[in-house]
Amino acid sequence: QKSTVVITGASSGVGLYAAKALAQRGNWHVVMACRNLEKAQNAAQEVGMPEDSYTIMHIDLGSLESVRQFVAKFRESGKSLDALVCNAAIYMPLLKEPLRSPEGYELSVATNHLGHFLLSHLMLEDLKHSSAESPRLVILGTVTHNPDELGGKIPPRPDLGQLKGFEAGFKEPHSMIDGKKFEPVKAYKDSKVCNVLTMRELHRRYHESTGIVFSSLYPGCVADTPLFRNHYPLFQKIFPLFQKHITGGYVSQELSGERVAAVVADPEYSQSGVYWSWGNRQKKDGKSFVQKVSPQARDDQKGERMWELSAKLVGVA
Ligand code: NDP
Repeated sequence: QKSTVVITGASSGVGLYAAKALAQRGNWHVVMACRNLEKAQNAAQEVGMPEDSYTIMHIDLGSLESVRQFVAKFRESGKSLDALVCNAAIYMPLLKEPLRSPEGYELSVATNHLGHFLLSHLMLEDLKHSSAESPRLVILGTVTHNPDELGGKIPPRPDLGQLKGFEAGFKEPHSMIDGKKFEPVKAYKDSKVCNVLTMRELHRRYHESTGIVFSSLYPGCVADTPLFRNHYPLFQKIFPLFQKHITGGYVSQELSGERVAAVVADPEYSQSGVYWSWGNRQKKDGKSFVQKVSPQARDDQKGERMWELSAKLVGVA
């Protein structure tokens, strides 16, 4: 009997290669939770995933209704859930005005954080019923969430402030969590701070009572995933070269996928409440370690407030 893992955003980049790596292990069935079924199907074939190793199911993380429908469909399928990987994200650095989710929330925070917050909340029930020794819930982080690290120093820096935008309901005219003026790069980074805070709150609230392992990771700078497709073309060309030759942070999509798969499946990664990293400069056979998260992402009070407000915004409070 194979274990089942759900991976969001498995149609490209880190998620696709994580799906491939887990499928190749032979003892995992991968549910690729994607918004574009045809694209996901083509991607799975292109990277050579065996046909019986995966199922593609529809989810649009930007829509809370769609997240609920996904969970209902997943349960209908009768599969057990042994691991959930919250990976999907959008990054729209050139936007002048915010885009909005069907519920009216700023779209990058809605997709990267609120959709995954609701999904994690709902699928906690499924993970509780897993017969795996340590069911896992893994949320992708990034170095740019952390101004204490070199890769996180480039402005604008993430800052949830006093969560005034969330408090005010996060709809028009509000588009930033801190209630300030719209800044698309900061919106992405803020959403990733929420991802890490969510992981830590899940750990604090549920690890002891459920045995579920909650963790995050920074897979390295995967500079040539399509995440940067909404950036200037010149940036897309130069960024991978810069990461390869100047910073040494470059990680291939293949390797990033293997790192996610390890955090999902390997016994070395059964610690809960932690954030894994392989460092910013990639060394051959570099080892992973537990990395300290940013001051905001380790602020328990902020985490609790973020949790309460997010629960309200997604309708589970
Ligand atoms: P990609 O853009 O390659 O992949 C993002 C995935 O998310 C795609 O499958 C995309 O679907 C999916 N997605 C986007 N919006 C939605 C939505 N509304 N509903 C469902 N799926 C959606 O990015 P990466 O692989 O680079 O990023 C994956 C994760 O890794 C992110 O969480 C990112 O923050 C993190 N990360 C990436 C780093 C990097 O250097 N690339 C570094 C550190 C962390 P579609 O194919 O349809 O567009």
